[in-house]
Amino acid sequence: MNIYNSLTKRVEEFKENVPGKVAMYTCGPTVYHFAHIGNLRTYIMEDVLEKLLRYSGYDVKRVMNITDVGHLSSDADTGEDKMLAGAKREHKTVMEIAKYYTEVFFSDCAKLNIKTPDVVEPATNCIPEFIKMISSLLEKGYAYKAGENIYFDTSKLSEYYVFGNQNEDDLKVGVREDVTEDTNKRNKNDFVLWFTKSKFEDQALKWDSPWGVGYPGWHIECSCISMKHLGEYMDIHCGGVDNMFPHHTNEIAQSESYLGHKWCNYWFHVHHLNDETGKMSKSKGEFLTVSLIEKKGYDPLAYRFFTLQSHYRKPLTFSYEALDQASATFKKLKNRIAQIPAEGEVDDAVVKQWHDKFEQTVGNDVNTAMGITLLYDAIKEDMNGATKRAVIDDFDKVLSLDLLKADTAQGAGNDVDDELAAFVEAKIEERKEAKKAKDFAKADAIRNELLEKGIVIEDTREGVKWHKA
Ligand SMILES: [Zn+2]
Repeated sequence: MNIYNSLTKRVEEFKENVPGKVAMYTCGPTVYHFAHIGNLRTYIMEDVLEKLLRYSGYDVKRVMNITDVGHLSSDADTGEDKMLAGAKREHKTVMEIAKYYTEVFFSDCAKLNIKTPDVVEPATNCIPEFIKMISSLLEKGYAYKAGENIYFDTSKLSEYYVFGNQNEDDLKVGVREDVTEDTNKRNKNDFVLWFTKSKFEDQALKWDSPWGVGYPGWHIECSCISMKHLGEYMDIHCGGVDNMFPHHTNEIAQSESYLGHKWCNYWFHVHHLNDETGKMSKSKGEFLTVSLIEKKGYDPLAYRFFTLQSHYRKPLTFSYEALDQASATFKKLKNRIAQIPAEGEVDDAVVKQWHDKFEQTVGNDVNTAMGITLLYDAIKEDMNGATKRAVIDDFDKVLSLDLLKADTAQGAGNDVDDELAAFVEAKIEERKEAKKAKDFAKADAIRNELLEKGIVIEDTREGVKWHKA
């Protein structure tokens, strides 16, 4: 398997630390608001990567944090506390906000067939681990106390910008004009490990520490949570491309200073989802969530399909037109699959051949678009129905598009057999033709015929949906 490594800026052959095992870490959400579908693109691609590793025979352990404390509105420790802002906005407590948005996040993930990582750990669970690492960094001279906060001293490192390409302007990204610079910092890029002199009088969550009552900075949590569950050596660390600096840069700085050796070998970064005007942000225009696209009649899996059609290292441009197109393609694909009869006996050797081809194709730097092309190739290929369905089922272990389920795209949650689903799909096609030919009597007759079989159809923006009466 090959994977692009942001550290070396090359596609490299993946080599794990412990034979057959992969220790994988994902930066989780800051649970102060809904997840944007752009953030979810990252989680979809990380999900594909994890499933691809399993598909290739690795035993994967994946850990994710939940940021429920310490993340300020600028990633560089300035601005307001995101959790506190969320609580004020909704007149709730910080913990209520955290609980609610954590649940919403995992429900969105479930709708997109994103598997929950093996370990999910909220930052507020790990205060002793943070204190231990910070104490050690102070002892080793990598951290200092100033203005009653503890900071990491970036000047102690021979190489701080491990991902390259960063310059001082990056620090200004996301910093609002009314935010004053932290004069306690010895170097511009130093970052907070522990706040005691909080600028937020009403900071909700505080803990006792050797340096006074306070709370952890954002970056420290990923280092501690990953080491708690994955040990001192990690194979793959994932996140969005916007996490590279300062978040991942700081994670590496403190982790490797603490450990005294290299920490993680491969860094996997997923690029942005943009709208036509540029980067999508939560403050601009419509806030795109899974629920919103669902309300507009889209199947969340059509969004997953949309993201799989492009490469994770390229920015993806979102528009409703593009999503319409992906939805239509996805629907057609599912219809084609629904019509493949489950006839004959599964030829395991053939399934294995396609499995290897898929592993090789998608395994070339998570090339999901080529994986979908291969899926079409398999559908076109001359083999018996049962084998073909087995191949599709096998690919779906990675793609997770419910390709054989009858039928999420049109009949979400329907518990009907494939034969009936194929029949309904065929009738819906027939009715579409009738409507096109303005033969509304025939269209109505088809609707009634389906109703007699207990199937209700609905015309939606995305096309015709159906469900059991
Ligand atoms: Zn992180």
